Amino acid sequence: MGKVITTRSLSTVGKSKTRTQSLIPKLPGKLCTDPESISMASTDFGNIVRGTPRGVLQPSCHEEIVDLVRDAYSNDNTSVPFPIAARGCGHSVRGQALALGGVVVDMTSLASCQGSTGGGAAIAVSWSRPFGHYADVGGGQLWRDVLEETLRHGLAPVSWTDYLYVTVGGTLSNAGISGQTFRYGPQISNVYEMDVITGTLELTTCSPDENPDLFYSVLGGLGQFGIIMRARIALDRAPKRVKWVRILYSDFSAFTRDQEHLVSKNARDQDDALDYVEGLLLVHQGPPDSWRSSFFPEPDHLRIGSLIDRHKIIYCLEVAKYYDDLTENTVNEDLENLFRGLSHIPEFLFQKDIAYIDFLDRVRKGELKLRAQGRWDVPHPWLNLFVPKSRISDFHDGVFKNIVLKRSITTGTVLIYPVNRNKWDDRMSAVVPDEDVFYFVGFLHACGFDDWQEFDLQNKELLQFCEDAGIEVKQYLPHFGSEPEWMRHFGSKWRLFRERKARFDPKMIFAPGQRIFDRNR
Ligand code: FAD
Repeated sequence: MGKVITTRSLSTVGKSKTRTQSLIPKLPGKLCTDPESISMASTDFGNIVRGTPRGVLQPSCHEEIVDLVRDAYSNDNTSVPFPIAARGCGHSVRGQALALGGVVVDMTSLASCQGSTGGGAAIAVSWSRPFGHYADVGGGQLWRDVLEETLRHGLAPVSWTDYLYVTVGGTLSNAGISGQTFRYGPQISNVYEMDVITGTLELTTCSPDENPDLFYSVLGGLGQFGIIMRARIALDRAPKRVKWVRILYSDFSAFTRDQEHLVSKNARDQDDALDYVEGLLLVHQGPPDSWRSSFFPEPDHLRIGSLIDRHKIIYCLEVAKYYDDLTENTVNEDLENLFRGLSHIPEFLFQKDIAYIDFLDRVRKGELKLRAQGRWDVPHPWLNLFVPKSRISDFHDGVFKNIVLKRSITTGTVLIYPVNRNKWDDRMSAVVPDEDVFYFVGFLHACGFDDWQEFDLQNKELLQFCEDAGIEVKQYLPHFGSEPEWMRHFGSKWRLFRERKARFDPKMIFAPGQRIFDRNR
């Protein structure tokens, strides 16, 4: 972990209302309390929020987690049970995986243990009816490892995140989205069943047919209902290579019109449909590539730079088409057909041909570069939003043109791409706008220890703009400080979310860093 700054501490949460002392976890000899373990579990990728746990459990089997939860639950009603946070890689940005004064369960330590996937270890690829091919995967496994193992069988999951060094349990607690979401849905829509440890049930298998309430609660459930020990993930035949294309627009309406066309049912249903559709803004001077990927050929940097200078904002459509030996001869023609009729700037189309694994793992290179420069473990006041399609043009004018350009501090990446709501299951806990198509907009600011507050101010300003303009955005990887804000976020799902919490975690011990429920109330 890099230098940690404390600006807003989780210690404010629940502090004033503590009735009695929290129970002290028993588990003698199992909890790590050495400074390195405590420091690792006290902050996250965001480097903004801090919360020191009493100990870190590095389990070697699921029974140790069951014991820990039982321990937290076995109080006599006079003590407040200690909180427990499952931690994947801690790639949250606002303390969501912290457990102030409680126990952090390092889920990645299970990934390296031998044993059954029910125990949280291993990645096992199988086939059976009615699923077809699937992988049983421990909750602490990295998606990068899932990819590598499934590729050995010529298979792969269909839905991804842009960055693969996050855990299965971590992304399933949110949604897991990327350029494949328009076609396959988020990762939470590609799970057949899970094993979960809740506060009231020990290790329980759930699926749409077996304990469905638990299944739908946990998917997108922000870690509130229990700990995901195993997930059964849908697999498909893995392609070999990818045509990866970026095309530039100076006109926002043309850009969104083309994006919406490419994710539409008509385009999706074609044999030559794209496998990945994203988009990003190019707003700053200097090289057009961001830390997340080097893409544009160096000889073209100058002319792309002049284009950005001229228009202030350039919209970059990013798409990918997978292929293998069978489709190698037709992929270029398919792409040409797809691009015919798009309204991009004709001479600004760039293409790469890379291995499938390199495409999916494209952000890793940027991470390693930043790490080498000491720019990875810095504050990350990232903001991720879902914006209804009907208001994306107002969002563009108010946020991109009037806030981002005027402040001119967005030196990171701004992602923007549409997804289809019918690929999300409303029974799940995840919350999205109530429109058939909505946009994901991610402000992945790159800043330092000195200037991150400026980015945070920009986040607040743009959220206020949306509020004033009546643009009903939903936060992805949400972060709120009060119950009314959470109620508003969940909208019509709030009552059910609260009931499910009372059912599966009545003492409110899980994922306290999300700051949704105050167990001292
Ligand atoms: P953590 O941050 O450790 O945990 C997140 C939450 O899940 C916490 O509340 C935690 O308690 C809970 N949790 C963790 N494991 C479990 C479990 N086994 N059972 C129950 N609850 C659990 N997200 C996307 O969707 N798409 C992207 O393209 C994307 N790109 C990213 C790129 C970078 C560089 C980074 C840093 C993050 C990115 N993310 C993306 C966000 C990432 O998916 C989330 O941070 C997510 O939480 C996974 O991270 P993690 O495994 O480190 O989970």
